[in-house]
Amino acid sequence: MRIGYGFDSHAFKAGVPLVIGGLKIEHTEGLAGHSDGDVLLHAITDALLGAVSAGDIGTFFPPSDPRWKGADSTVFLQTALEEIATAGYKIVNIDTVLIMARPKIVPIAGELRERVAELLGVKPGEVGIKAKTPEGMGMDHMAMAHVTVLLESLAIPESMGRMVASADADDMDAVVKGLVGGARDVSALGRKVTPFDTEDLT
Ligand code: MG
Repeated sequence: MRIGYGFDSHAFKAGVPLVIGGLKIEHTEGLAGHSDGDVLLHAITDALLGAVSAGDIGTFFPPSDPRWKGADSTVFLQTALEEIATAGYKIVNIDTVLIMARPKIVPIAGELRERVAELLGVKPGEVGIKAKTPEGMGMDHMAMAHVTVLLESLAIPESMGRMVASADADDMDAVVKGLVGGARDVSALGRKVTPFDTEDLT
């Protein structure tokens, strides 16, 4: 199993539509950003990428790249989902906290949960949506999102399962080596990120 955590924040801005969790929400203003400003999908994307050590949203979609201007954030999420599948993992559950003064999230929390579940390809019961107001933080004109995600390893391929069932000691050794060295090769994760150089610490 692996765990991931994501955070994001955006300021409110007049004249743009409000999109949170891939859901268009009726409100007087939207969230400013290079993309559509979907604070929740950005935090979910980072949580997923972090869980498989594949960098963050900026690694894949730098704000300096004009291609992502006004982009639909479901594109970012889709990339993160592909990364976790490639790494051999699937989502167990996800939990989120949205922090904003307005609009009120509680009346639309059910709809939001269904939309996020749909985008992630999981059941609504595997998605937690919680809302807080930024009381005492002096941040009434911005939205923040915190997300944790739990992933589990995909099932052992059926062919490998059959090998295990019929294996003698030598075969078993090969199966274990295959599992350790191939199907769950975590060292392949984060390959799009520059390796961390420990000598920089000196
Ligand atoms: Mg963002």
